[in-house]
Amino acid sequence: MIKISPKLVRDSIQFAMTLFCIWVGYRFYLFYQWMIGNSDIAVSKPGAVEGFLPISALLSLKQLFSKGVFDEIHPAGLTIFIAVLVMSLIVRKGFCGYLCPVGFIHNLLNKIGKKIGKTVTIKGKLEFGLLIPKYILLAFFLNSVFFKMGERELDAFIHSPYNFTAEARMMNFFTDMSVTAALIIGAILILGIFIPYFWCRFLCPYGALLGILAKISPVAIKRDPEKCISCGKCNKACPGGIEVDLKQTVNSAECIGCTQCIDACPVEDCLNVTDRLSRIKLPWYIIAAGSLVILLVYYAAARFTNHWDSPYPLEILRKYYMMM
Ligand code: SF4
Ligand code: SF4
Ligand code: SF4
Repeated sequence: MIKISPKLVRDSIQFAMTLFCIWVGYRFYLFYQWMIGNSDIAVSKPGAVEGFLPISALLSLKQLFSKGVFDEIHPAGLTIFIAVLVMSLIVRKGFCGYLCPVGFIHNLLNKIGKKIGKTVTIKGKLEFGLLIPKYILLAFFLNSVFFKMGERELDAFIHSPYNFTAEARMMNFFTDMSVTAALIIGAILILGIFIPYFWCRFLCPYGALLGILAKISPVAIKRDPEKCISCGKCNKACPGGIEVDLKQTVNSAECIGCTQCIDACPVEDCLNVTDRLSRIKLPWYIIAAGSLVILLVYYAAARFTNHWDSPYPLEILRKYYMMM
């Protein structure tokens, strides 16, 4: 029987998702050019572009909780955001492990680092200290949105020209990048070669939020101490810097469910993806498959119930684009 490598599956899904995101970005660029009159070719706005606006989605989520109103400015963005939160609650950080293009970039940088043999494993107090900033950033965003922002401010922001044009501003940030931003991004990418998953592990507040939610997930990696030969191969393979060989159940907020530890383990059935409630062993691909299914179910539901495309006339958006 042909054995399918978890690493190959992960790389392929990440690659496909990154290509999809590039395509979405390109379609949005064409849409924007048409909207501002630089092109005669009419292109529809790809809703998936709103998935790059997690802060706007956080505000929309508050609106949904407080008023029961589903965001009409970036409905696809809110749909994707809710799907990713649900994903983390059910199948851990599958979004980080398989779907996020930034995770794929860090996967590639890590491969380069391993190839040149220059990766540094950050452990102990330094690791603890470096993990703090992303939680501070997350706390700042959650506090600002859920506790400091009043209903009127929330409504004003959601219906502001700034929020309407958020994707275009994001695109312009990358197409017309300042020297300072380029230097910071360059430094983060270079650090990603030497320190595995530098941005994801130490700086991304989105990943921090998903990690906290993932702790509730019933799905986790389990180690059988009876079978373990303490070879440490799982630790070396883990992009989250987790000491898998010291745990019986990996329930760390850093675990992205990539199953590289299982792939690296030389002892059959020593490491498994397990349902923590029933203790039933699950197939290793359950996190990848579950993440994709949840995303597709939310997409289909949003399409079916008209919660994907904004009902606002394009003329309003065009007016705001021209004001930018
Ligand atoms: S930590 Fe952030 S950037 Fe990294 S994969 Fe997760 S969401 Fe993407
Ligand atoms: S513990 Fe295993 S599944 Fe979790 S991040 Fe590390 S290698 Fe991936
Ligand atoms: S790779 Fe497997 S056998 Fe080796 S330490 Fe990890 S769990 Fe134990």
